[in-house]
Amino acid sequence: MRTAIGVDLGGSHTAAGVLTEDGTIHAQHELDLDDLSFDSVVDAVVQVVGLALADAGPNVSAIGVGSPGNVQAQTGTILYSPNFGWKDAPLGKALRKKFKQPLYVANDARCATLGEYTFGCGRGTKNFVLLTLGTGIGGGIVGEGELLLGSSFGAGEVGHHQIRADSGFTCTCGKIGCFEVQASGTGLIRHAFALEPSFPRSSLLDSARDALSSKRIRKAAQAGDPHALAAWKNFVSDLSIGLANVIAFVNPELIALGGGVSSAGAFMVDAVRPEVDRLTTMVPKGTTRIEIAKLGNDAGQVGAGIMALRGGLTTHG
Ligand SMILES: [Zn+2]
Repeated sequence: MRTAIGVDLGGSHTAAGVLTEDGTIHAQHELDLDDLSFDSVVDAVVQVVGLALADAGPNVSAIGVGSPGNVQAQTGTILYSPNFGWKDAPLGKALRKKFKQPLYVANDARCATLGEYTFGCGRGTKNFVLLTLGTGIGGGIVGEGELLLGSSFGAGEVGHHQIRADSGFTCTCGKIGCFEVQASGTGLIRHAFALEPSFPRSSLLDSARDALSSKRIRKAAQAGDPHALAAWKNFVSDLSIGLANVIAFVNPELIALGGGVSSAGAFMVDAVRPEVDRLTTMVPKGTTRIEIAKLGNDAGQVGAGIMALRGGLTTHG
């Protein structure tokens, strides 16, 4: 079977694995990124790919890299990445000098979408959306069986549509109330801090304020903590607005939710369902399924590996 290396490059670490064409991923390696300068990130990717290549043996046909930011498909240049603070960074060119195999670069969330669509919960659908809820909200859209890239490689950037333009938090992109600043994992934490004055006796922020995680808030909400429940309610409200908007734009069969916050599972899906239905007006309510994504942290590596095997970010192959 043909094999490829799939690389997932994130804001704090990079991971690579060996993908065989049946969708199995193995020999995974991960490195922390201590320094986000271009040269240091290139060195880290070269290192992690080298580890995967050593495990894979001689038959690796290509390498795929999913990176944050807006990626020019042909060259693999990162046109803009707020996570790395990069503009026009020639990632594809720098990496191609280091390996003999063909190498492709695309946006990380689009790679994850291709992975979930091909081997995860999107399998068998024609209209599919993946949203990864983590530090931000990444996304990807498959419409009529085609992964949408957009005229300047920005299709699927649903994290930066505004849902609270008048009253929201300030986003890393400079706008107010973007979907991702309101409804990502860090969005849930922002809601908890914003509600602090209303809960002066709250134990949620007693210790380790800087280490407050979305998981801790969610677990406290499940245990009935009033402060956590109020933050969770605001988070669910904002997430539901974004999901209903995505349904209005794309009318997908399925929206899959991935990323760290998706570990909330049914607690989150059951909470957003009635809100999303209430906000869905132009298509029959309830027809878009909302589920937790299947591939977890592997989705990005799997999708990048598929891109490598197919010679581009496509659902065909
Ligand atoms: Zn934004």
